[in-house]
Amino acid sequence: MMDGNETDVLIIGAGPAGTLAGTLLNREGFRVEIVEKQQFPRFIIGESMLPSSMALLEEAGLLDTVESQGFMRKFGAVFLRGKETCNFDFANQSGPGWKYTYQVTRADFDKALADKVQAAGVPIHYGQAVTAVDFADDEARVTIETPEHKQVVAKTKFVLDCSGYGRVLPRLLDLEQPSTFPPRDALFTHVSGDHRPADREEGKIWVCIHPGGAWIWIIPFSNGRTSIGVVGDPEFFRAFPAEPEAQLRAIIESDPNAAPRLTGMKVVFPPVRINGFACSVKRVYGPRFALVGNATEFLDPIFSSGVALALESSRRAVQLLSRQLRGQTVDWQKDYAEFVRQGMDTFRAYVSAWYNEDLQHIFFAPQRDPAIMSQICSVLAGYVWDKSNPYVTQASRALSLLANIARTQVRS
Ligand code: FAD
Repeated sequence: MMDGNETDVLIIGAGPAGTLAGTLLNREGFRVEIVEKQQFPRFIIGESMLPSSMALLEEAGLLDTVESQGFMRKFGAVFLRGKETCNFDFANQSGPGWKYTYQVTRADFDKALADKVQAAGVPIHYGQAVTAVDFADDEARVTIETPEHKQVVAKTKFVLDCSGYGRVLPRLLDLEQPSTFPPRDALFTHVSGDHRPADREEGKIWVCIHPGGAWIWIIPFSNGRTSIGVVGDPEFFRAFPAEPEAQLRAIIESDPNAAPRLTGMKVVFPPVRINGFACSVKRVYGPRFALVGNATEFLDPIFSSGVALALESSRRAVQLLSRQLRGQTVDWQKDYAEFVRQGMDTFRAYVSAWYNEDLQHIFFAPQRDPAIMSQICSVLAGYVWDKSNPYVTQASRALSLLANIARTQVRS
């Protein structure tokens, strides 16, 4: 990035939120540039997508790029607890949503999107980190550290913060707020030697409920490797005192569903641990900025909602920003903050119901109403803004009532 560089929009971060925003703003004719701290390809967690993202990628002209990568098709999600199974197939959604999506190695997925947006004419400044922002009435001045450790200042009309876990503006503008969820830890890696189910079942994500209270994800890739990870309270991990790889193996070996599938697994890289990933913010926009994707709020990985929410919030932010840059009045509170919140709140209800075990009662109930399970399937496919679905609009209440019915079934 050159000192004094001027743009209409400066995007921080070239993850899915950033590259989607770059593509859409460029298509609208704005001068947009992306500043990305790392060099691509780079590892990042967040590998299981939701079908709702497919339409957004298609609309932005990015779906062909994703399809051409040969990623593993994901047709659903399977929840396993001991001998019980609940198999959601995206073909069984109540709404007209996409019936499949992908399991993606994010290093490849993010690079493919970044290359596409760059080829369309959006400069991506790799290896450059935003370190400060100064908002004035008529512009924002963004300080960027170059790979040579020089500080340059770029001028822009608007900053879109798509920095994910970097949380650049939340930190710089003191917008950080603790999550309402207690801190949980995740321990994950990629492995080879996964004994997968065949055909349509191969690409589904497995979520195994460990007898000790944590859960394990199994996400198969088309390159023969599989992402595995454990999410649980810090006390859960303390019950398996060992170095990360030995700890991960001990947890897998003590789960009745993960153990047989992963017998003989070989770890591809030393397991990574993330502590306390849930985070939130006081507000998601200001006069010359908006927070997008994970820079807003991150709830929990259980329903693989991160990339879907990143893409939805990115598209919505761009719609409003385009109008604002053309001189129209925009209601960021109603049309952005409340919109993002609604999708988040739907997933929040499901995450809460997962950890208070309402969802386990529903998923493993002896009798499950297929019509209701289809409505829940649509939510798990990412359609969390669909007001025709009572399991969206009344999520907390509907799940709690349904769980109570399921509990009675178990008792009788
Ligand atoms: P990111 O993908 O985080 O991209 C942000 C980019 O900004 C990065 O490339 C970063 O280098 C760059 N950046 C950061 N700081 C700066 C700076 N100062 N200057 C310039 N650039 C900067 N989501 C799913 O959809 N499916 C899953 O299965 C899933 N599993 C998960 C498992 C775990 C354990 C966790 C913690 C999360 C998981 N997620 C999952 C969430 C997912 O990782 C994120 O929601 C998703 O990556 C958010 O995309 P984004 O574009 O907002 O940000």
